[in-house]
Amino acid sequence: MLTVEQAQQRILAQVPRLSAEEVALADAYGRVLAADVLSQVDVPPWDNSAMDGYAVRAADLSETGATLRLLEMVGAGSVARQPVVSGTAVGIMTGAPMPAGADAVVMVEHTDGATTGAVTVGRAVVPGVHIRRAGEDVARGATILTAGQVLTPARVGLASSVGHAVLPVTRRPVVAVLSTGDEVVPPGQPLGPGQIWSSNNATLVGLVHAAGAVPLDLGTVPDSLDATVTALRDAVARADAVVSTGGVSVGEYDYVKPAFEALGASMDFWKVLMKPGKPLAFGHAGEVPLFGLPGNPVSCTVNFLQFVRPWLRTALGDPRPFLPVVDAIAGDDFRERPGRARFIRVCLAPDGPRWIAHRTGSQGSGVLTSMARAHGLMAVGVEAAAPRVGDAVRVQVIDPSFLDGQTADFGW
Ligand code: AMP
Ligand code: MG
Repeated sequence: MLTVEQAQQRILAQVPRLSAEEVALADAYGRVLAADVLSQVDVPPWDNSAMDGYAVRAADLSETGATLRLLEMVGAGSVARQPVVSGTAVGIMTGAPMPAGADAVVMVEHTDGATTGAVTVGRAVVPGVHIRRAGEDVARGATILTAGQVLTPARVGLASSVGHAVLPVTRRPVVAVLSTGDEVVPPGQPLGPGQIWSSNNATLVGLVHAAGAVPLDLGTVPDSLDATVTALRDAVARADAVVSTGGVSVGEYDYVKPAFEALGASMDFWKVLMKPGKPLAFGHAGEVPLFGLPGNPVSCTVNFLQFVRPWLRTALGDPRPFLPVVDAIAGDDFRERPGRARFIRVCLAPDGPRWIAHRTGSQGSGVLTSMARAHGLMAVGVEAAAPRVGDAVRVQVIDPSFLDGQTADFGW
């Protein structure tokens, strides 16, 4: 049997890099940058005032200040018409360009606040004070964002501030999703005897979307070799990657592996040392990777997160393709025995500076309620004993949105 890490290494050994495309800023959030982004300008573009106040020549002010002739008032977005010469000042608002001749800004609070005639300043200033220098934040030609970064609102805002209207991002891969099984029916259709509604299509569509790819839901396929081959051939033609669920065990009706072979796809069938989610079929039809995930809903989810998501993030150019991991303290005694890597559904509760990880309920590989409650998967290595209350553990965070539930009371 392969370890999780060995299976991941094989899957990530040859991931084609997807092509780049340019998108408008409004479409760039959450995308992965395909190239470095440089600044074409200095930021700020010119020396400007960091305060509302008066642009002065520091040499004009003695220890007790001076009264200076007020030339004009300049707001942000306009430029002084005349230079500051000895004995004069220009009223200036935050962000307005420094007038020629001035070498410091006096805060309005240190003056009489006059807007016409003359302004009386009550103290001396040091040259350069309260001036934001041209290029202080970003120098022209500097790299402001690097390939592989995920575009957060702040990063898109930074690109916008240096004048970029479009950004180069990696094309989003299309991922075909299909379920197998005579018993599996899409929701909205009536159930026959012995049938169940599919959960895996909906879960996988969401997981593909959350991984930054475009899901293509191809529905459910009955347990026959012909139907499975036809569905997979269609999926390969339409997608950059194919994810199927079910039919990868060694049961009588498990047609995924023979269907991969009938398609002429290269095929590895692995039993991975993990729980849940032991069986995994992985291969390629030409360039298109095929992931045959187990049918049990939780196994399917855990397998996607350990194997498919890293492939997708790598193809997108994300240098950190794995789920983020947080250190936590076990809040329960766990029972899952060593011998396989275990991925235990937990929720995380804050306890001062620490996270406490509690099991979310039954860990059966078909139990979706405990998956739906989980913030993360506690990852326990093959040989490690099951954690006891108080043990240090590591939790893969599936969805950081649980932080929304932590209300800030600003009690500092
Ligand atoms: P299999 O891997 O095909 O043997 O399926 C294992 C278990 O997962 C069986 O109980 C199936 O009914 C169930 N299962 C397979 N596909 C789905 C699906 N799309 N949604 C919900 N359960 C499924
Ligand atoms: Mg099946």
